[in-house]
Amino acid sequence: MKHIVLIGDGMADYPIKELGDKTVLEAADTPHMDRMALEGINGLATNVPDGMPAGSDVANMSVLGYDPAKHYSGRAPLEAASMGIELDKNDVAFRCNLITIENGDILDHSAGHISTEEASQLMQAIEDELGGDVHFYPGISYRHLMVAQFGADAVCTPPHDVVEEPALDHMPRGDSAEKLQELIRASWNILSEHPVNKKRIEEGKRPANSIWLWGQGYAPSMPSFEEMYGLKAAVISAVDLIKGLGICEGMDVIEVPGATGYLDTNYVGKAEYALESLKDHDIVFVHVEAPDEAGHMGSLEAKIQAVEDFDSKVVGTILEGIEKLSEECTVLVLPDHPTPIAVRTHTPDPVPFVIYPSFNRDADIVKTYSEDAATDGILSTVRGCDLIRTMLSL
Ligand SMILES: [Zn+2]
Repeated sequence: MKHIVLIGDGMADYPIKELGDKTVLEAADTPHMDRMALEGINGLATNVPDGMPAGSDVANMSVLGYDPAKHYSGRAPLEAASMGIELDKNDVAFRCNLITIENGDILDHSAGHISTEEASQLMQAIEDELGGDVHFYPGISYRHLMVAQFGADAVCTPPHDVVEEPALDHMPRGDSAEKLQELIRASWNILSEHPVNKKRIEEGKRPANSIWLWGQGYAPSMPSFEEMYGLKAAVISAVDLIKGLGICEGMDVIEVPGATGYLDTNYVGKAEYALESLKDHDIVFVHVEAPDEAGHMGSLEAKIQAVEDFDSKVVGTILEGIEKLSEECTVLVLPDHPTPIAVRTHTPDPVPFVIYPSFNRDADIVKTYSEDAATDGILSTVRGCDLIRTMLSL
């Protein structure tokens, strides 16, 4: 028996006036997910435990079969895993953004989406001057990491949450705050004097004139997916966080050419690689970021397009492919969390899921795939981290 989990990031939504009070899933043309709902069994999944942030890292940890309340230790350790940085027992990984501060305010959490090439020169300068007790690791564009042996319990603020607010109001607080603040302050001189930034200013671009530390944590301690479920697993995603999650769970990360994490991603390629991966894996997770991006943009048109592409090119390709498998297969479809157009950010609401077995089974009364229809599902409301077991028990 094989298993496929298809994740449409941020796909769920609220009823929208322009759509006659339908949600995106209700309004979009999604024949494949609707067929799954009609012939499969349905329910709602709570992927964000009470009191936890509705981040893609937390929600996808649930979808990948682990309870975030038990295993989640922060965003940066997952990114460290995807960057191949091994954390020792006492290491605390911090996300280290390159940001732009202007007149004391955080102007841009991404320093104008600075290029990776420019950023790596700046991060090298930071490591040369401030490295020693702590170390800095260059990543992609504005997204880098710092590893320290302190500050795990500091209160740090994601810079994208406080754009246009005074930087000094949002500096790290609590555990080791002084050391963390010192590092941020020390970066100001190093960065503003750097030729890369002088050139950026000349070209009218935003200078990366500060580091910003947040999202920290120890390496998560989690049993491998194979230990938990007895299945050999693979994951397909364009997003570092999701790859990092997979690595921490001992999954194989499969790279797909043209997977961008955006609206132009190689949808069909992801599905084809997933089917191929079942030759030497028992379960494969396919994560598609595009609906979430459209939700953050607040673009109704883009979100409908992303959901329809997910349905026709990913779900459609998978349903066609499993017909040709020599083994039976179950397919689970769900979002990690809603990214409603109206709020342009994640919400912790339960999300609709459908489990579709390629073999015969009594379907429930649900006829289409949507937030509302799933409330009539026979599986009712399930903790997201229990869904894999639910699927395996069929
Ligand atoms: Zn997400």
